[in-house]
Amino acid sequence: VTIGIARESAPGERRVAATPETCRKLVAAGAVVRVERGLGDGAHFPDAAYADAGAELVGSGAEALGQADIALCVQAPEPAAIAALRQGAVLVGSLHPDADPARAEALRANGIVAFPLERLPRTTRAQAMDILSSQAGMAGYKAVLIGAQLAPRFFPMLTTAAGTIRPSKVLVVGAGVAGLQAVATARRLGAQVECFDVRPETSEQIESLGGKFLDLGVSAAGEGGYARQLTDAERAEQQRRLGEHLKGIDVIVCTAAVPGRPAPKIISAAMVAGMKPGSVIVDLAAETGGNCELTQPGETVDHGGVLVAGPLNLASSGALHASEMYARNVFNFVSLLLKDGALAFDWEDELLAKTVWPERPAG
Ligand code: NAD
Repeated sequence: VTIGIARESAPGERRVAATPETCRKLVAAGAVVRVERGLGDGAHFPDAAYADAGAELVGSGAEALGQADIALCVQAPEPAAIAALRQGAVLVGSLHPDADPARAEALRANGIVAFPLERLPRTTRAQAMDILSSQAGMAGYKAVLIGAQLAPRFFPMLTTAAGTIRPSKVLVVGAGVAGLQAVATARRLGAQVECFDVRPETSEQIESLGGKFLDLGVSAAGEGGYARQLTDAERAEQQRRLGEHLKGIDVIVCTAAVPGRPAPKIISAAMVAGMKPGSVIVDLAAETGGNCELTQPGETVDHGGVLVAGPLNLASSGALHASEMYARNVFNFVSLLLKDGALAFDWEDELLAKTVWPERPAG
């Protein structure tokens, strides 16, 4: 089997879908691995390391992908690059076909067997392939560092000859993978950390990381452990209490998301107007519209002394470790497709059957 990896084409994307470490494992599994020269430059994996790992270095993306049975990527290639793949080739990566009609059409038209890894069922077995989790961890970590960098304060408490500095108060909105990493990172920097989520079971996880679960006095606990929809009155009460609470917060890190939907709007312009000057909001949800009404994707805007940052693709800013994790996720998934060094689809395996897009190939 031949596996090809071309340089990423999306602007600002520094991560790679295969590192020298995973190339070595793919070669050991019997694959021929073709890598476009310069693939790992942005993530600090030199060509020589890929060559050492047994990969064949080629001069262009077309050479890397043209003969490939399996192509690996971080973000989906341009439609023209998809068209250069062989009919029936497999493409594995973070493809989001439902959000990108032009690429979806290119995948369909070229008979590509696509495995958008964000579609993997989130079962225990899939955890080793879970790119959403591995990349969210880096994003949550970096978001806190951005908040610390933009804030005109220390995070930790200091007792010095020049007096005592009070620790910063950090609020993390959403306690998924990114949010919990944000809680842990802000704690390590010495801040007082609070966090809330609509899933009440997150309170234990937040507290085990040294954060405090922020109780807005409105419980959305419904049947069977799921959150129920809040009534309008409950929602209004929750918003009022949150607005009051934000007056005492120095840095907010927003991470709330609902799969396949625009990010929930949680922090209104009026709440921002009520915050202290010098406060900072880092909105990780900027990519899907933001948790804060004022977030501008890719920008940092000053609203009356409150900075609102909407950084994009934070995982790429930690490209070396983010790539190590992403590439291991990809390798673990590709291992499901290889039998004795050849490509084989086991459609009985739900990880393949539920991830393939648009549908499994005939025959
Ligand atoms: P996500 O990025 O989709 O969402 C982030 C968080 O935002 C979630 O915790 C969600 O409950 C929260 N949220 C949504 N609306 C909100 C609102 N209005 N206010 C406050 N918070 C809101 O989620 P994620 O980080 O990808 O994963 C979420 C959960 O799934 C986590 O508990 C994670 O541990 C779990 N998970 C399980 C597996 C597995 O078992 N294999 C794998 C990955 C994730």
